[in-house]
Amino acid sequence: MDNPSYQWWRTRAAAIEPRTAAFIGGKPVPAVSGRTFDTINPATGATLAAVAACGPEDVDAAVAAARSAFEAGTWATAAPAERKRVLMRLAELITEHAPELALLDTLDMGKLVTDAYQVDVPGAAALFSWYGEALDKLYGEIAPTSPGDLALVTRVPLGVVGAVVPWNFPLDMAAWKLAPALAAGNSVVLKPAEQSPLSALRLAELAAEAGLPDGVLNVVPGIGEVTGKALGLHPDVDCIAFTGSTAVGKLFLRYAGESNLKQVWPECGGKSPNLVFADCADLDAAATAACAGIFTNQGEVCSANSRLLVERSIHDELVARIVATAQDHTPGDPLDPASRMGALVDETHTRRVLDFIDDGRRTATLATGGDRVSVDGRGCFVQPTVFTDVDPDSRIAREEIFGPVLSVIPFDDEAHAVRLANSSGYGLAASVWTADLSRALRVSGALRAGTVSVNTVDALSPQTPFGGFGQSGFGRDLSLHALDKFTGLKTTWITH
Ligand code: NAD
Repeated sequence: MDNPSYQWWRTRAAAIEPRTAAFIGGKPVPAVSGRTFDTINPATGATLAAVAACGPEDVDAAVAAARSAFEAGTWATAAPAERKRVLMRLAELITEHAPELALLDTLDMGKLVTDAYQVDVPGAAALFSWYGEALDKLYGEIAPTSPGDLALVTRVPLGVVGAVVPWNFPLDMAAWKLAPALAAGNSVVLKPAEQSPLSALRLAELAAEAGLPDGVLNVVPGIGEVTGKALGLHPDVDCIAFTGSTAVGKLFLRYAGESNLKQVWPECGGKSPNLVFADCADLDAAATAACAGIFTNQGEVCSANSRLLVERSIHDELVARIVATAQDHTPGDPLDPASRMGALVDETHTRRVLDFIDDGRRTATLATGGDRVSVDGRGCFVQPTVFTDVDPDSRIAREEIFGPVLSVIPFDDEAHAVRLANSSGYGLAASVWTADLSRALRVSGALRAGTVSVNTVDALSPQTPFGGFGQSGFGRDLSLHALDKFTGLKTTWITH
């Protein structure tokens, strides 16, 4: 992949033209109320755009457009080969517009443009082509019956899917929902996070250009408590695919109960443990991965390895290597390919992360970092931070910080490690470092986590399901299993 220069990104950033209207029924429309909200570049504090703040009436219009497209059948009952062609074309268009899409996410929420360009955008394109390729290879079942009967079991699209996504990977989180939901034949109303609406609005235009019929994909930017709530309570939405915090995931379950019993698939937060045993074959690799696991994307990753559980006999040695490696993750201008960490998403979140760090200073030992820094005199930047001597019951050991803050806790033996790992109410991801295959299998089996990575961190691919247990929710993204949540099983019984 090419690696454009700092100057190249700066020139492109200065020329970017964000879309600001909602996208309903195949065209951009302002909010009925005329209201807008500002989206701000957290690296500079500059206002990027005033974006349509959709209210319940705009959500109504988007759901109506989605429903009428679904009933018209232009997408839901289109031949699989046609739906495949459109999704594959969308993947191509995402790739063709990679610099623009990467910049929109970087300017909107502060992530490194190199990561957005080399990882996030190709990841989104790959997902549309993966589900495009998959959709014409899915077969139904014929159930065993008595002679004279024929029972067909098929998977049918649900209808109108509301996709509600967070700001940490704006384009990818949208793609994780849209690609399988659309592949299954649904219409979608997408609600991006208010901190990062821009790439979703551009994606909707590209989908239309790829040939997606009008109304099949609608985007309603707006404030969570207004736009997200209206979608969650809407009586004509069949399913909510949600990624975000545990607190808001619970609200969506409540909205469903208060309205039409729509399906809700919450994929929520985490406090993922990274277990390093003394028999780990490569301590340098473990230290590098531990840093990548918590400092990538400024630690704003649901499956961030935010708790390092390390066997006491190698604790000091591993911490020394991690502290040394953390220096490589010093924040810088997200547009500079030399930067190793970007800006946190906004001022409010930065203050929240700093509040956790203050807590850590009182209850643990600060091994490195801990300060807010500025880049060119401004911005929401926080140093890569490591705490040792962390009490497993303290706030920084239990709550999701969603920032570049690592809590290190020693353990004495395997049982102790597993007990500590499973003590958080979350269950999204975990990592295990050991050269002993039996231990790897034993510990992986005992960990309550949707994904366990052995001798690596954050293993992830379109082919494998991603989601969690407990307070991390119960939805599953990615893989063919994601299609289960966007379809319902239907039995057609024929007596002949
Ligand atoms: P959030 O829960 O605040 O917001 C998520 C979405 O819900 C946004 O679109 C927001 O506008 C909307 N929303 C907020 N309040 C709402 C309300 N009262 N009613 C209806 N909708 C509302 O989360 P966030 O801060 O955007 O994202 C960070 C969280 O997302 C973290 O907890 C992180 O772990 C989680 N996350 C999980 C995964 C996963 O796959 N499990 C992936 C990425 C992020």
